[in-house]
Amino acid sequence: MKRVGVIGGGQLAWMMADAAQKLGVELVVQTPSEHDPAVSIAKETVFAPVDDATATEILAQKCDVITFENEFVNLDALSVLAHQGVSFRPRLEALAPLLDKYHQRCYLRDLGLPVPQFFALDDVENLKSQIEYLGFPIVLKSRRHGYDGQGTFIIQDFATLEQKLSDETTTQSLNQSLFLLEEFVPFERELAIIAARSVEGEIVTYPVVETQQEQQVCRRVIAPAEITPTQAAEIQAIAHTLLNSLEVVGIFGIELFLGTNGKVLVNEIAPRTHNSGHFSIDACETSQFEQHLRGVCGLPLGNPALQCAGAVMVNLLGYENSHSDYQSQRQQIAEIPQAHVHWYGKTESRPGRKLGHVTVLLDNQNREQAIAIAHSIESIWYPR
Ligand code: ADP
Repeated sequence: MKRVGVIGGGQLAWMMADAAQKLGVELVVQTPSEHDPAVSIAKETVFAPVDDATATEILAQKCDVITFENEFVNLDALSVLAHQGVSFRPRLEALAPLLDKYHQRCYLRDLGLPVPQFFALDDVENLKSQIEYLGFPIVLKSRRHGYDGQGTFIIQDFATLEQKLSDETTTQSLNQSLFLLEEFVPFERELAIIAARSVEGEIVTYPVVETQQEQQVCRRVIAPAEITPTQAAEIQAIAHTLLNSLEVVGIFGIELFLGTNGKVLVNEIAPRTHNSGHFSIDACETSQFEQHLRGVCGLPLGNPALQCAGAVMVNLLGYENSHSDYQSQRQQIAEIPQAHVHWYGKTESRPGRKLGHVTVLLDNQNREQAIAIAHSIESIWYPR
């Protein structure tokens, strides 16, 4: 496998570059804008939105296999290409149950995996009884195209829910089943696991990490998470069940809640490399990006183990509209011992946009110390 097509040209594709070089693989990218991060590392680029299957047909002619850094694709149109012999890894059938959050919850529940209580919001008649069952606060989610908390709303009362639904449905009616309603999980912590499966069905998992979100966007990741061996084993088993059931090839990210009662619930599946696995670039023998390319290219998987006691990853999120490249803040952060700064080269900053990340390697697993380091990075990065 020499040429890998990647649908999507954001930072996740950009971070495949080092691994591609190491494995002697060329990346061909499909992405809309010449300013997208992965354009600079791609051997060739097909400039088109990720859901443009006509462009993917052109991409297919330029590579041996196609993978995804963005799952917001048009699966029906891509299936036509698959029937014509285009190879997708993971296969399209592994993405199909995941792209709609309601279908995803149903799939996980039917597999016997623990998920929050949920309903499809397709019938206004049922709304009152569903809300009575779940109780406030309630979580309203767009079924499709949500990311970084866009489309996820934590709602405290009925009036706000009605308001939200009428805001969001002015152009499309409720009957079009746009939303999912679910219980608010009063979690103790949020966790994630990155897992990879090879063409032969071998599975490796990275250490379970703690993720910390603010306004529904990931701010920091602490590896490994401070959980019990039983909880870690349970989460690894969830990853195995899911990847085997979907016959995944490549990396999947699994986001979870750890309840105050110690119970684990699956929140969301990302059918691709994931923000919660960025620490692996600097902290593990095989990064999630190399692992993904190994899977996609039919190579044996690499060792996912941490090469240090622990690590903390901090996202550098935009906080203003600007064209700055933030040289001096990046420089200051890079001076922190054992810090590795990754800057995605985006030409435009906007509030909440992921512009880069920093991983600091640690010689212990002290959670408080990891959080303190994260805060010191954030105090350099964000203006007071
Ligand atoms: P996205 O796909 O936009 O990342 P998620 O479903 O992962 O959306 O939600 C983003 C964040 O919102 C989660 O990491 C969590 O902090 C919060 N959240 C989502 N669902 C729930 C829930 N049912 N209960 C409590 N918090 C939630």
